Amino acid sequence: MHVHCNHSSDAISKPETIMQTAKSKGLVVAITDHNTVSAWPLFQKLSKEMSWPFIQGEEVKVIESGKCTGEIIGLFLQGKVKPGSAGEVFDAIHGQGGLAMVVHPFDVFRNDFHGLKDFVKRIDLLEVFNSRTTLESHNKKAFEFAEKHGLPKTANSDAHIPEEIGMSFTEVNASTLEEARRELLMGRAKLHTEKSPITVHFYTTLAKLNLVKDR
Ligand SMILES: [Zn+2]
Repeated sequence: MHVHCNHSSDAISKPETIMQTAKSKGLVVAITDHNTVSAWPLFQKLSKEMSWPFIQGEEVKVIESGKCTGEIIGLFLQGKVKPGSAGEVFDAIHGQGGLAMVVHPFDVFRNDFHGLKDFVKRIDLLEVFNSRTTLESHNKKAFEFAEKHGLPKTANSDAHIPEEIGMSFTEVNASTLEEARRELLMGRAKLHTEKSPITVHFYTTLAKLNLVKDR
């Protein structure tokens, strides 16, 4: 539900590699690049060729008074969502029939979400486990928040390199994307959680500096 390809400046996974890995592992990936949907056409083509679905997504920055105050992933989107205030991002996602998933909400090292409580009614899914979150307590806090407010939970790899795909994943009993969407919203998902090795963060840094090859 949270995968980056090389259209994110901090990721090195090629679309072909992502789709091949996903198919071989029996996983459907949501492509959620940072503030762009430029990879969708490539994934649409690959999806057709390989007869394997993917979910159109985007990880969108929340900006309040010029500062990043969180990130929201739009899933099952039809088009791009622009960064903006939390209210604007939620509206834009819901306006096109997408689901809004707040990601790594308590990870203070990676754009934790400010004022999460005020938006409980507009959150469709809460990422309660992110494989790249370094402090266990930050994931735990997210889990407890979801329990307290009755929010459906997801577990995601936030993969930026191919090896991370499927590190954590959200399992639902469904045979179509429409059914999967419904099951997710009903909170009937089973979470598979595993932490990525700390070394994945070095790749992110190297990718940003253009010092590592895409694969
Ligand atoms: Zn991400």
